[in-house]
Amino acid sequence: MLASLTEILKIAEERNIAVGSFNTPNLESLEAVLNAAEKLNVPVIVMHAQVHEYAAPLAVIGPVMVVAAKAAKVPVCVQLDHGVEVDYAEAALKLGFTGIMYDGSLLPYEENLANTRKVVKMAAEFGAGVEAELGSLPSREGSASAAVGPVYTDPEEAVAFCRETGIDAFAPSFGTAHGIYKSTPKLDLDRVKVIAQKTGLPLVMHGGSGVSTEDYRTAIRNGIRKINYYSYMSRAGVRAAREMLDSQDVTFFHDLALTAQLAMQEDAERAIRIFTGE
Ligand SMILES: [Zn+2]
Repeated sequence: MLASLTEILKIAEERNIAVGSFNTPNLESLEAVLNAAEKLNVPVIVMHAQVHEYAAPLAVIGPVMVVAAKAAKVPVCVQLDHGVEVDYAEAALKLGFTGIMYDGSLLPYEENLANTRKVVKMAAEFGAGVEAELGSLPSREGSASAAVGPVYTDPEEAVAFCRETGIDAFAPSFGTAHGIYKSTPKLDLDRVKVIAQKTGLPLVMHGGSGVSTEDYRTAIRNGIRKINYYSYMSRAGVRAAREMLDSQDVTFFHDLALTAQLAMQEDAERAIRIFTGE
């Protein structure tokens, strides 16, 4: 069933768990994630990232995600991930998305603040929740921005930003990065605890792939209620597809796609089990 970001995060808060949040830029990853959540009987978040527009246009994958979420046996939030344009966020809301992650981190602070407030107001009219981040999370390792190292969110700045924007969930920067890690990330989990206490909001971990089980558990204990996880799940699908191609003569793409889907489901299940403390 379709649920809003706030409803999903409330469940996470009550159960002291983190909800798994996955990018689903194709039918296979969408089915993989929803099947995993139904099998484990837990709420889940499926996301469309604006950066994936080239692979899956919002106007096409968006309605598919909403229909699939409505048909699911568990609460599902359909969220926009890293929406960098207010118009794009509005388009997602009109398609029935129940959560928006607005990312104005590349804008000057005042502009980021103004846009985030605009998105919060707009989302409220649709009954959707809003997540935002402050400061830029480092992107894929090896890229220019990762060379300067992780940026850590200042707790006081976080408090002011959350209060002035009225967001429902906050994504602090505490050492994680998007993409595949080349070395073990150094996380500042005490910072997570301080920011959770000071803002009183559910916190979101971006770049949740490749974090150690122990760090996931501590992060959840300290206030992380949503973990964005995608790269490693996707890679599991790629690996399964490659093995299939190496071992047999494949004619139909849908057979290859299904093999990847099942491998992604297995990986998503493993992640969800950790996030929900099983
Ligand atoms: Zn992210």
